[in-house]
This record gives sequence, C-alpha cells and structure tokens, in this order.
Amino acid sequence: RVPVIAIDGPTASGKGTVAARVAAELGWHVLDSGALYRLAAWTVLDNNINANDIAAVALAARRMQIRFDDGQIMLAGQDVTELIRQEHVGNLASRLAPAAPLREALLERQRAFRQPPGLVADGRDMGTVVFPDADLKIFLLADVQSRAQRRCQQLRERGLVPDEQAVLADLKERDFRDTDRAVAPLKPADDAHQLDSSRLTVEDTVAAVMSLWHK
Ligand code: C5P
Repeated sequence: RVPVIAIDGPTASGKGTVAARVAAELGWHVLDSGALYRLAAWTVLDNNINANDIAAVALAARRMQIRFDDGQIMLAGQDVTELIRQEHVGNLASRLAPAAPLREALLERQRAFRQPPGLVADGRDMGTVVFPDADLKIFLLADVQSRAQRRCQQLRERGLVPDEQAVLADLKERDFRDTDRAVAPLKPADDAHQLDSSRLTVEDTVAAVMSLWHK
C-alpha cells in the first residue's frame, strides 16, 4: 500500500508550493491535480470545443496525452507549463470543474500517480474523493486577503502588473464556485487537519505538515 498525503484548500492558499516541498523532503511523487483541470480547459480552448458540451469536454479530457516531467507539463508533445497558468485558462478550469463527467474522466488518471514510495497530492477533493484513504489529510486555509496578495506576487514574478481588486474578486468567485458545487465541493474531509497559513511562511507551513506526518 503506497502512502498518500492529501493537501486540499482554496485557490492560492499555497497548496502547490507546500505539496512540492513536502514531496521533495520525503522523496515522493507529487500530483498537482489543478493542472489536470487546467489542461482540460486548455484543450477545450485550443480545439474550439464548446465548453457547454460537457460530454465533448469529458471525452477530450480522457484523450489528453499528458506527461509531467520534472516541473514541466507536456501535452501531446507540446510544453504547456506556462500556457496553462494563464488566468483565463484557470478561470475556465474553475467553470468546467463542477461537471461530474469531467471529474469522472480525470479520476483514474489522478489515482495512477500513487506510485512507490509515496504521493503528495494537492487540489480540492484529494482527501474527500480521490484518495479518501490518504494517510494524512491537510486542509490548507488562508484568508482571502493573504491569498490575493500571494496571487498578485506570483503575477508580478511572471512580469505582469496585477489589478489587485480584480484578483480579489476573481478569488472570491472561484471560492464560491468550488464550495458551492454539488459534486466534490471544496470542504475539509472529516479527518483532515486544518492549517491556516495566513501568517505562516512557506517554510513554517511545510514544517507543520512534516511534523503532522511524523507524529
Ligand atoms: O489549483 P488550480 O487553481 O490550478 O486549479 C484550477 C481549477 O481546477 C480550480 O479553480 C478548481 O475549480 C479546479 N480543481 C478542482 N479539483 C481539484 C483541483 C482543481 O475542481 N482537485
């Protein structure tokens, strides 16, 4: 049985960074499940698929040829690492994510990441749906202001000039869509440890996860 650490939480709570660091410390694999939803959104845009035709979206998602390669994300041989980080791609991902056929299409693909010696998986439903038997479940919170600041910082690092009000409004909208949906809504698993990172550095947050793991 391959161990899993599930890290769930809202947009820009720092899950991705924390998951990658914890995986590096343990020498485990990492699953950025949000990237799969972004890849599905990218596929929809790139192939002019009608985003309302959820069966077509799910079929296209099943057929995606993805390779995660040392921080690089390849789709059908094309490096899409930066392309899928664009705001409009994340936004479409968040609009497609409530669709059950899409979530179903991505389910086994996510579980296939569970390979020895272990997996750190980050997303919205890692502890509730994808890996309900995870050995450790973390629900990473941060208040919306701190998350908006982090997202603006990430955008600046990519050479963009963020509109802080727009970023804040977008985060609130995504939070609403993720928590309000009927299928796999964003919520802590019953057995999740809640961790508020609003006033923690990345290092502190990683250390907190590691100490829960070693307990
Ligand atoms: O985490 P990230 O922002 O990259 O994910 C993109 C979108 O995919 C999120 O806004 C969320 O709606 C969706 N998602 C999801 N379930 C996951 C991971 C992401 O619904 N496990």
